[in-house]
Amino acid sequence: MSDRYCVFGNPIGHSKSPAIHAAFAAQCRQDLSYEAILAAPDGFADAVRAFIAAGGRGANVTVPFKEQAWRLATRLSPRAELAGAVNTLVFDHSGMFGDNTDGAGLLRDLTVNLGCRIAGQRVLLLGAGGAARGVLGPLLDSRPGVMVIANRRVARAGDLAQGFAGAASLRACGYPELAGQSFDLVINATSASLVGELPPLPAGLFAPASLAYDLMYGECETLFLAFARNQGAARLADGLGMLVEQAAEAFHLWRGLRPDSAPVIAMLRATAVSAR
Ligand code: NDP
Repeated sequence: MSDRYCVFGNPIGHSKSPAIHAAFAAQCRQDLSYEAILAAPDGFADAVRAFIAAGGRGANVTVPFKEQAWRLATRLSPRAELAGAVNTLVFDHSGMFGDNTDGAGLLRDLTVNLGCRIAGQRVLLLGAGGAARGVLGPLLDSRPGVMVIANRRVARAGDLAQGFAGAASLRACGYPELAGQSFDLVINATSASLVGELPPLPAGLFAPASLAYDLMYGECETLFLAFARNQGAARLADGLGMLVEQAAEAFHLWRGLRPDSAPVIAMLRATAVSAR
């Protein structure tokens, strides 16, 4: 029987993860199956246990279960520990290992696929939810010159920054305090784009040659990317590359092999264009 993997979420019908992992498995000649499982809002832990009992070897975890997965895991990687959220689980004889590959996925998309330099740059991270928690550590490891987290509920941004209190370049604030500042890289890790909203961003945020990156991906340009375009950002990117890269990192954890993400990103982009 093929080794079984899955992604847990709610909702989950829209997930691209089964297509991504099927492509990785074919590329790396791995005999595995990967399915999307809808877990009830209060049924995540039961769904995980049932999947393990049925022979599951590992799982991805998406909204809204990443923090529950963090609590459920019997061991955590240092980056998952720091993020307070788990997006990848490995099941073996010793229990349930939890990791967070979101930050590594974003960093690889930024630096390898988009050729973006982070060291010494002025970086703005919008949002302080699960995704922001996952990406902040790896961003700081890349040594930005200035790293600002802005969030609607300012206290949440402050709490997030506190977890990285050793980082001299790091500051937390609300949106009004961004007025008069400009950045080389602006990353939207809020869920505002999901509901067709835009965080209350002041004009002038985008430095010449800046990159605007929205973690959200979809068939249409998000309001954030449209705003960035109008404000003169030099380059725009959505989160599809991050999605594939975080999946590649999870695949590596499960199978010990690193798939080539470029053809899979190209395949998903082509599918999105033909669906329009
Ligand atoms: P959470 O629910 O944990 O956090 C939501 C964040 O968005 C909070 O900081 C919240 O602010 C902020 N927010 C929500 N609505 C608005 C608004 N209208 N204006 C300003 N701020 C707002 O979500 P996640 O962190 O899990 O996900 C964030 C986004 O990242 C989603 O779009 C998700 O799809 C995407 N994502 C993409 C990935 C990829 O691989 N490409 C991977 C992971 C996530 P407040 O705290 O003030 O409420």
